Amino acid sequence: MATDIKALRRDFPTLAQIVNGHPLVYLDNAATTQKPQPVLDALNHYYRDTNANVHRASHALSGQATRAFEQAREKVARFIHAPSAREIIWTRGTTEAINLVAFSVGRHFLKPGDEILLSTLEHHANIVPWQQAAAATGAVLKVIPLTDSAELDLDAAGALISERTKLLAIGHVSNALGQVNPVAELIRLAKAAGAVTLVDGAQAVGHFPVDVQALDCDFYAFSGHKMFAPTGIGVLYGRSEWLARMPPWQTGGEMIKTVSFEATTFNEPPFKFEAGTPNIAGAIALGAAVDYLQAQDRAALMRHEDTLLQQLLTGLDAMADIRIIGRPRAGAVSFVMGGVHPQDLATLLDMQGIAVRTGHHCAMPLMQALALPQGTVRASLAFYNTSDDIAALLAGIDKARELL
Ligand code: PMP
Repeated sequence: MATDIKALRRDFPTLAQIVNGHPLVYLDNAATTQKPQPVLDALNHYYRDTNANVHRASHALSGQATRAFEQAREKVARFIHAPSAREIIWTRGTTEAINLVAFSVGRHFLKPGDEILLSTLEHHANIVPWQQAAAATGAVLKVIPLTDSAELDLDAAGALISERTKLLAIGHVSNALGQVNPVAELIRLAKAAGAVTLVDGAQAVGHFPVDVQALDCDFYAFSGHKMFAPTGIGVLYGRSEWLARMPPWQTGGEMIKTVSFEATTFNEPPFKFEAGTPNIAGAIALGAAVDYLQAQDRAALMRHEDTLLQQLLTGLDAMADIRIIGRPRAGAVSFVMGGVHPQDLATLLDMQGIAVRTGHHCAMPLMQALALPQGTVRASLAFYNTSDDIAALLAGIDKARELL
């Protein structure tokens, strides 16, 4: 199996670029990942050769498009070890997937005084929809605090969970700090109290295998674009018992069985939750990204990413003016440089062709809890990064320091 990273990089045309006079060092993978040629080919092939709407027409092209679209759903189900493809709902991304649950479960099953448990580490996409559901139902948000090392405080979580806890919505991997949260443990505690559980997997699926049955969560949400597929396509896994009970959230074509002016009957899940023409090309291309990942030796890719992470942490640790935030374990490392605005550092890195991200990383409550109003600089990895990329970042920080 291919674990030659230099060879794998050739599958990603975007990586072979010169940016600001330097070879691109792409370390903004938590924002979005680059796309391998088979994913680009899948998009092109769909639009060039099989473009037709799915499910409705009885002609050959529509049949081909429908088969490819539904096969992609099956690939995604296998990818996260869902019991059935009928538990895979296509969405625009993680944000839409969480909004769907916040609407169809949150607004329909929560009552005044019920508690929704989140954590301080959440992305805004896993905060705001619950805040809206709470405002609409009279439910209350509870937030798991952090320990001194900025990790989730499991003891505090245990104390917060009670029979009032009706819903746990928790990130698998923090996009802001690269921490892997103890989701299985939290799900176990929440389920014992009778709560529904949702995992925001946006930052997990591109880095390590996910098994929704082993996690035993009711919902798992992720975005294609964070795992080498296009933007505009994402996934909500939902346990079939829940999908059967939940009302639809958007309505219109595709999601119905029968319509009259008096009444409508709804289609079965997952179609009940997929109103309108879906992102057909995106779903097929996400299937191609799954195929691409499954064809690799994922354990070797994980080891490679971990080696890069350790190289980066060691290099940053050796810099007296750099403070690493939290305990990064997957994907992303957030840091600040004493007396330097994160944006200034990022601009100087960009001039050297190094792409990182700065600011609050869509986690303003987290930055507030960490007393970092200007946010951090975040370098985030994918398996196609190399030890040279990390060396370039570390040298780039040294150069920026000279210029500042
Ligand atoms: N949750 C997390 C942890 C994320 O990192 C992101 C994207 N930065 C999202 C949710 C939202 O994903 P999307 O914008 O693709 O809907």
